[in-house]
Amino acid sequence: MIGNLLEKTKFENLNLNSPLLKVLNEEGYDYPTPIQFQTIPSALQGSDILGVAQTGTGKTAAFTLPILQKLNSTQSRDKFRHPKAIILSPTRELTIQINNSIKIYAKYIALKHVAVFGGVKQGPQVALLNKGVDIIVATPGRLLDLINQKLCSLEEIKYFVLDEADRMLDMGFIRDVEKIVNLLPKKRQSLFFSATMPKTVAKLADNILKNPKKVKVKSTVTPIDRISQSVIVIEPQEKISQLVTLLNDNSLKSVIVFIKTKHKANRVCQKLTQIGIVTDVIHSNKSQSARQKALNDFKEGKIKILLATDIAARGIDVEAVSHIINFDMPSTPEDYVHRIGRTARAGANGIAISLCEPSERLKLFRIEELINVKLNVLKSDISKIEFGEKIIESNQKSNKSEVSNATFAKTKKIKSSKVVAKKTKSIIKRNAKKDKLKLKKKKNERQINNKY
Ligand code: AMP
Repeated sequence: MIGNLLEKTKFENLNLNSPLLKVLNEEGYDYPTPIQFQTIPSALQGSDILGVAQTGTGKTAAFTLPILQKLNSTQSRDKFRHPKAIILSPTRELTIQINNSIKIYAKYIALKHVAVFGGVKQGPQVALLNKGVDIIVATPGRLLDLINQKLCSLEEIKYFVLDEADRMLDMGFIRDVEKIVNLLPKKRQSLFFSATMPKTVAKLADNILKNPKKVKVKSTVTPIDRISQSVIVIEPQEKISQLVTLLNDNSLKSVIVFIKTKHKANRVCQKLTQIGIVTDVIHSNKSQSARQKALNDFKEGKIKILLATDIAARGIDVEAVSHIINFDMPSTPEDYVHRIGRTARAGANGIAISLCEPSERLKLFRIEELINVKLNVLKSDISKIEFGEKIIESNQKSNKSEVSNATFAKTKKIKSSKVVAKKTKSIIKRNAKKDKLKLKKKKNERQINNKY
């Protein structure tokens, strides 16, 4: 019975052709993820798709693979050809990420594709378009810009993908998306993906899709079960010291620190640099080349700490991110899911630690409600912080995770080093209100502990 089930869920059973199967094998993808398993056969048959799936579920391959296969079978011999597929994504990073995924999946298929996004000169993108492409991956603003300049045409589009539709709306791109949809041929196949499905998104989907196959993959299965999640309740003025302590722990191999605003991210970066912690920061005020450099340095392990705002972090797909630190709590519970989804990529495990100010308890409550997991409350007493096994063990209990203990056991239990404690203490000493704050903090902790 089990053998039969496994047999059915192989990529070979999804009607994918050999150039794609070969690359999936090389990539080490043994089995399709639920979103891939449920959408690929229908998409190959020409059905519109409405996929509710968050990042980390393998949705990029779910919409890319069928399009590649279909384009390959009807491939134009013309050297110059109009684009046949358009994939819209909300951010530059995600656009680049999707384009990179296409490059991987299309390794054995002679298709041409281009990433079109703002913040950089349009010349190189236009040059590629002029040579003729099959697939455009684009952010809405730059795409419309190029269309208005008559440098790009959507007349021959057969396949349209809207990725992260909810984020697209959050970022105010709805009108641009609608303008683009109006330029598309009526006869086309559309694939629509969103992490959440509020009414506005459902309405947009209704306007774009025809009798779609609806697929919803459980929003919390992947990758939250594989992420150990904790929260430290802390006063705002103590957050930097706490961050320094966390960052100095050797078990943090590759960390993304999320910060609410660009300016604050710059300030935190400066403070960390001053005390010798090497880091870089990405946010939307940085030039595209600076963002890409920071991201590449992080991917290649040249820097182990990356500071990011929510928008800039979309599309960061680095397999080895070991920890997410929410220096600031996210504005929405969905953002929390997106943030922690940067770790535990491609089957790995991850740890997420959030610094929550006492006034942000409601945010914490809403997050727990959405993910249906209670976060471990850690003590903010810096000298007593231990993370590694301890957090994971207790988190596993509270998550009722089915992930094996053996996979988690690798994480070392490391106490804060003396050097860190010294550095941290000297920072704390500067805080003249220390004693007063401690009292206040204990009171708040007691309140929070009572609640959670
Ligand atoms: P996505 O949700 O598309 O951002 O994908 C998340 C990560 O999962 C990416 O790093 C993919 O390379 C990886 N991935 C996608 N599909 C599979 C699969 N079937 N098996 C293993 N890893 C996968």
